[in-house]
Amino acid sequence: MKKEIQLPEKPFIYDLTLEALQDWLKSQGEPAFRAGQIFDWLYGKRVVDFDDMSNLSKELREKLKASYQFVTLNEITKLESKDGTIKFLFGLYDNHAIETVVMRHNYGISICVTTQVGCRIGCTFCASTLGGLKRNLYAGEIVAQVVYAQRLLDATNERISSIVVMGSGEPFENYEATKTFLALMVHDKGMKIGQRHVTVSTSGIVPQIREFADWNTQINLAISIHAPNDALRSKLMPVNRRFPFADVMDACRYYIEKTGRRITFEYALINGVNDQPEHAEELGAVLKGMLCHVNLIPVNYVPERDYVRTPKEHIFEFKRILESKQVNTTIRREQGHDIAAACGQLRAKHMESTAR
Ligand code: SF4
Repeated sequence: MKKEIQLPEKPFIYDLTLEALQDWLKSQGEPAFRAGQIFDWLYGKRVVDFDDMSNLSKELREKLKASYQFVTLNEITKLESKDGTIKFLFGLYDNHAIETVVMRHNYGISICVTTQVGCRIGCTFCASTLGGLKRNLYAGEIVAQVVYAQRLLDATNERISSIVVMGSGEPFENYEATKTFLALMVHDKGMKIGQRHVTVSTSGIVPQIREFADWNTQINLAISIHAPNDALRSKLMPVNRRFPFADVMDACRYYIEKTGRRITFEYALINGVNDQPEHAEELGAVLKGMLCHVNLIPVNYVPERDYVRTPKEHIFEFKRILESKQVNTTIRREQGHDIAAACGQLRAKHMESTAR
């Protein structure tokens, strides 16, 4: 029997775009300009209580309280790495848990957010998918991850300057919430993050890649490709049977044509599986001449899976072959290694311990 999804008591205030909030205010007989004031409290001053919104009338604050709630993220675990990386495990209103990661780089601070509780995509190198999909996050629950981290950083006058939607879940299977989240992050009355500093990563959900292209923003798109052909990709990523390699590539070309933006291909290297010179040759041949960039990721060891990391020399060789075909290639720098936990592992451990 399908397990019932528990609904939140009230909608979350962070679920609302500025326009949606204006509409709600109008329906309450309030002037629309109040939406800007409320957004300033939410995203500028980052208060988490309607009673702190001191330039609103008591009556309006009561109406807000009656209709909406803040997202409560219950901090279950917070791990801090020597390199400044912070990994959070947050509990949600229905006791599900999600992970969020804050990373410090020489160019600023980035945050990696989660869009679903679990994931149904089934990539064989990923711990997030082991228990399947539990539910989609509300837009407000994605927003809350950023606001929570920013409130913490406010104490040291630090600012999140970029966002990657690469945590657990497939954002394009929770498209509307992801889109609302993105709109709030880049809005000049929202979190004010530059569009070019925001990246969404998908496993290749073709219809939404096209929809995202039609939205035509400056937000970056990354595709988890991980293989140069259908046979190998289907083995690593069952989603490839639904959206084959060639269709994903067509959608990527459509995105580039529509937006004029470079696309990033994420490629997790797994020793002896997809990291051989012939794989690099094949991928290079497909991507040659395309406005793109390949990001090679030495795969994280997932105890539940049988994969081992590619030796350094092979990673460099893979990069060299791609570059010989004029495909711009980088190797992802690893962060937070001393606090273990690849994506999804904190949550997996937590699920194990709560099941006991
Ligand atoms: S890599 Fe992403 S899309 Fe694939 S199973 Fe993990 S969370 Fe889902």
